[in-house]
Amino acid sequence: MSTAAGDRSRATPAAAPPRIPVGRILHPDKSPRVANRAAHAGEAETSSFDTVLHYFDVAADRLGLGEGLRSVVRSAEREVQVQIPIRLRDSGTHVFSGYRVQHNGARGPYKGGIRYHELVNLEEVRALAALMTWKTAIVDVPFGGAKGGVNCPARDFDEQELESVTRGFVDKIRDVLGPMRDIPAPDVNTNARVMAWMMDEYGKLHGDTPAVVTGKPVSLGGSLGRDAATGRGVVYAYREAARALGLRADETRVVVQGFGNVGSWAARILAQMGCRLVGVSDSSGAVHCAAGIDPEALLRHVSDGGKVAQYPDAAGAGGAEAITPDELIALDCEVLIPAALGGMIHAGNAGDVRARMIVEGANNPTTPGADEILNGNGVLVVPDVLANAGGVIVSYFEWVQNLQHFSWDERDVNDRLGTRMRRAYREVEARARDGRVPLRVAAYEVGIERVVEAGRLRGHRGYG
Ligand code: NAD
Repeated sequence: MSTAAGDRSRATPAAAPPRIPVGRILHPDKSPRVANRAAHAGEAETSSFDTVLHYFDVAADRLGLGEGLRSVVRSAEREVQVQIPIRLRDSGTHVFSGYRVQHNGARGPYKGGIRYHELVNLEEVRALAALMTWKTAIVDVPFGGAKGGVNCPARDFDEQELESVTRGFVDKIRDVLGPMRDIPAPDVNTNARVMAWMMDEYGKLHGDTPAVVTGKPVSLGGSLGRDAATGRGVVYAYREAARALGLRADETRVVVQGFGNVGSWAARILAQMGCRLVGVSDSSGAVHCAAGIDPEALLRHVSDGGKVAQYPDAAGAGGAEAITPDELIALDCEVLIPAALGGMIHAGNAGDVRARMIVEGANNPTTPGADEILNGNGVLVVPDVLANAGGVIVSYFEWVQNLQHFSWDERDVNDRLGTRMRRAYREVEARARDGRVPLRVAAYEVGIERVVEAGRLRGHRGYG
């Protein structure tokens, strides 16, 4: 469940002031590093881009990567920026910027989500594309890494505006897409409906091509289990980490930051396993209930147009109380799952974390400064490149099903997802144990090694 569809029903009424001042041109992108830091990263002391480079450099140093190879693998192979003019219902024509960054294709077609958010910028998309390169390698699916986005306020768009942006974006980038070239998927504020439009627009020129996107509606070639896959993958990662800590589900209290696709699925599946959800947030605020929050009831509340912050007043809330986002991070619990935006756990709040483990559902939620504090405090951090890889794993299954013109049943998808997540976790865990390093460093080492090997075997320039 991405928020875009749900929020459209609460779109700005016709009489309301324009969402963007008339005539304001959001294009072109100036790669606003400071804006990126301030808005997407909360109080984060580094941008997403610097965070990814930092983790890369730590692992590359340990692997002894030479300067030349390092600069090839560190940077993106292709960056596309396009203009998307859209007529908005209340304020005329606006020009948004669309980005597609193809970071590395040594291991296969580029793969990565599309994000719609007013603060999307080239530098952030770059960072997220690099993360995809390491992620696909760590879980060993035959893809490279990419990411895309449009700097539009999609949550305020009606369906027609959302469709216009999507078709306008695909129209401009379709030459770099393709089922054997680059395969988008949903991310923040995009969903199966958006993927259907993307597929349809691409198909106008190339003929019907379901394998050009993943995360489509099941009726149009999407995979059963894809919607839940990232959250389910987070749960598989939790199970492995819990095994290492000797933690049982019925003694696990969970806090989830961000109750969208990833957070809501993770919360629901963990609750089915017997874990207790004691805190949740979304962009509206946070709630706490020591006795446990029913994630199904909370999801009904959100699906009906409610905000998480309003949940304490809702029927079935069972004593939940409103708290601040800072209090949420500091709740007494065993597992904290960041599942919102990047940079939300930073040097300023990492010391408040009381969880025994963090399972990173979001991309880039933890800054290097926070990582150091958490490691020093003995908090087990399961990094994003491993913990949230369930989505790309099932995207791979969807792509395979599309290429085979054959669909698998949901149980098959979930079982195969579990097998791959367990295998990847245990490979990274073994590497971490042998190298006496945190899981994140070990994961990056595994990913970088695989990408470098693929580039060498293909004879790509610079991998020599
Ligand atoms: P989504 O749009 O469905 O949900 C995002 C949620 O975060 C919403 O509930 C929103 O209200 C909340 N949020 C936004 N700002 C917040 C804030 N300041 N504090 C608390 N909550 C806030 O998006 P999603 O698909 O669930 O993605 C969430 C994260 O997971 C992103 O970092 C995304 O890159 C990452 N991710 C998603 C997938 C996927 O398959 N959807 C895969 C891998 C990683």
